[in-house]
Amino acid sequence: MGAIATADSVVTAETLRITEIFYSLQGEARTVGLPTVFVRLTGCPLRCLYCDTEYAFHGGEMMTLENITSRVAQYKPAFVTVTGGEPLAQPNCLPLLSMLCDQGYEVSLETSGAMPVADVDPRVVKVLDLKTPASGEVARNDYENIEHLTANDQLKFVICDRNDYEWARFKIDEYALVPRVSDVLFSPSHEQLAPRELAEWILADNLPVRLQLQLHKFLWDDAPGH
Ligand code: SF4
Repeated sequence: MGAIATADSVVTAETLRITEIFYSLQGEARTVGLPTVFVRLTGCPLRCLYCDTEYAFHGGEMMTLENITSRVAQYKPAFVTVTGGEPLAQPNCLPLLSMLCDQGYEVSLETSGAMPVADVDPRVVKVLDLKTPASGEVARNDYENIEHLTANDQLKFVICDRNDYEWARFKIDEYALVPRVSDVLFSPSHEQLAPRELAEWILADNLPVRLQLQLHKFLWDDAPGH
């Protein structure tokens, strides 16, 4: 589909709308702190109340998959994260993920949990959100995604308040989430819930989840490009 064979290579004509490609330290999840190239795809069908990437909703630049992977290669990374917006809202995200895996990177995908992940290349580490009530988008969770998560994947809850915390605890039990994935991540919503308060709740309940703080917000105050 859309492939043009040339004398010494195959060039695909598929494109994606890209907000930014940048090299930074991973701010969250299992590889936090490790140098990583981020490919931020433009657009998202959700509108979470705490969204910190609204600049990725619109605009962007159309790039071919080859141009994207060439830009990534310039940084010689070990880790590549495809993010958004909601990257799976653009169907060509799927071939991009596979191309990046083929090129030997450890590839992760940050996704809202609202789009199907069944066709994501199994080599990709999925970091899948379950949207809590205070996100304003809880009705968008596609719970069928849970059966496609493996021990290499991660589940993330952004917790805004105590009600979100209780909701997340309930979902962990309801879907037996802890043994299903490598990490269940609880992330306090920035400036809504004090990290220490969430830490104390987790300890009081002896909950087997990983508290995560968003490193990039401490280092770069959430400026685009980090
Ligand atoms: S899914 Fe992510 S990018 Fe989309 S609105 Fe929610 S927080 Fe923002």
